[in-house]
Amino acid sequence: MKEIVCISGKGGTGKTSLTAAIATLASEQGRAVFADCDVDAADLHLIFRPVSTEKNEFISGKIAAIAQDRLVHTGPSNRYQSASLDHDLATTCVELCRFGAIRHSAEGIRYDPLSCEGCGVCVHCCPESLFRFEPRRCGDWYVSDSRFGPLVHAALDPRAENSGKLVTTVRQNAKRIARETNAELILVDGSPGTGCPVIASITGADAVLIVTEPTLSGQHDLERVAALARHFRVPASVCINKADINPEQTDSMRAWCLRNGIQCAGTLPWNPTATAAQIRGLSIIEYARLCREEDALRLAEAVHSIWENICQLKRSLV
Ligand code: SF4
Ligand code: SF4
Repeated sequence: MKEIVCISGKGGTGKTSLTAAIATLASEQGRAVFADCDVDAADLHLIFRPVSTEKNEFISGKIAAIAQDRLVHTGPSNRYQSASLDHDLATTCVELCRFGAIRHSAEGIRYDPLSCEGCGVCVHCCPESLFRFEPRRCGDWYVSDSRFGPLVHAALDPRAENSGKLVTTVRQNAKRIARETNAELILVDGSPGTGCPVIASITGADAVLIVTEPTLSGQHDLERVAALARHFRVPASVCINKADINPEQTDSMRAWCLRNGIQCAGTLPWNPTATAAQIRGLSIIEYARLCREEDALRLAEAVHSIWENICQLKRSLV
């Protein structure tokens, strides 16, 4: 079983469209499992249109919790009034919370769980033990069926963090399913950039496919993300999307790949087919087969050639 991760230096390079197109070809050649590890902006499901068979909560870190969402220290009958007034003002939760999650208000003290970073200071310092620490729910992850094969994907809650841990959870479960189904390939739509989620996407993978565009910033992104792959000793292959919008830069990127011993798996021309396919919830390959338009067939042929080069790279991996 080999795991190939599709990544890019930034979002919007066509990474997900290419992943879905390759998924179409891979699923026709053998058993494959797919994973959407771009959990901060997951969109592979728009093309896969999966049907969930398993839903799990993603719990990560802790959050302060209280019996009600507002602490009131106002009326003389309030049993917490003396505590809040007795202890030194500098040691109250309002002063100690560095994230502004606990504030004074006209009614007393107000706690906003959305601003809580889970540092635990209020839990430790409140003499009345009004705060407790609870596991923090950050989203859900799913195992689903799709016309290409099993898909593991996730949805982070708004403002939720720690997406690197969620990426690891998604990859681990994709691997589990691949073992259970004797799949030969795990194809991952990785996170863009070079931060924690992309590191979690590529560590221990067999190869990465870097999708980039022929611009100066695309070259810069390519160099950063290729350096990251090299650091983690993951063989890289490059696809230059929209190659025909800047042929000189495309040639320069090919030469850079050659100089750096990185396979250039191929280029994709710019045409509106990718968007048209997305609107219909189809991969580029499916759309080309359906509409038979010249532009769509040209794009599908370019994807075929990239997939063949990746298969070659895959065969060469020990
Ligand atoms: S002190 Fe820390 S744990 Fe308590 S509310 Fe503020 S951020 Fe949350
Ligand atoms: S630390 Fe506890 S007792 Fe003091 S003001 Fe905050 S909630 Fe009230």
